[in-house]
Amino acid sequence: MHQTLVHFFCLHERKEKSLKEQLLLLINLQKLDLAISRINIKKKELPEKMAKMDEDLAVFTTGLEASRKRLDELNKRHAEKDDKLRKNIEALKKTKNRLFEVKTNKEYQAILKEIEQIEKKNSETEDEIIAALEEMDQAKVALKLREKEYESYRSKYDDERGKIEGELKNLDVELLDCQQRSADFRKKVRTELLRRYETIKGINNGLAVISVWKEVCDGCHMNIPPQLYIELQKSEELLSCPNCHRIMYWYDRGKNGA
Ligand SMILES: [Zn+2]
Repeated sequence: MHQTLVHFFCLHERKEKSLKEQLLLLINLQKLDLAISRINIKKKELPEKMAKMDEDLAVFTTGLEASRKRLDELNKRHAEKDDKLRKNIEALKKTKNRLFEVKTNKEYQAILKEIEQIEKKNSETEDEIIAALEEMDQAKVALKLREKEYESYRSKYDDERGKIEGELKNLDVELLDCQQRSADFRKKVRTELLRRYETIKGINNGLAVISVWKEVCDGCHMNIPPQLYIELQKSEELLSCPNCHRIMYWYDRGKNGA
């Protein structure tokens, strides 16, 4: 890339070799610095995405636990009623046995009434047990659904989490590489130029060096004066855009495409 630029510098090689080197260093340094900020943004966004996934997983987990708890409670209530019924059946048997021991009719009638009351209670308990069983069936269906939802999300979650963790590791490696290369480039750029680059970068969203074509700055998209544009194509200095102050270089899109 920047063949025109290279060509332009070849024509002026003797005079501008140093300028060419410095500008190419800046262009490459900028590429690395932009890559570093992209990596840093991703390194911030990916854990945020993971935290959102953790929140969603917690919602599914809570729902699943609530369904399990509900079924446990129903099971417990059913067991209590079952136990109550068993005890009452036992009590009924004992009460019926007492019928053989009574001496008076009054006593006999009293026991019959007692039996009637126990039977009524047992019948109510049986109804309650049936209702509890129905509720348990519904709760089991609800739990199955929750388990399915949870499993489905969990599998997506594990998959995505694995990918993100892998990506973060790759980003760390990539970042270290870019940082090392960026530091190497910085050592080669002249101090005052590096200072100029850092200052412009700071006020221009990380973009300090910019191409210009047909009198238009690719950074701020403003026209630059025709005289300056001519000068840019011949200049022995690194010129700045009068509008955004970025360091400009001429890039022939006519020959090199967009
Ligand atoms: Zn500009």
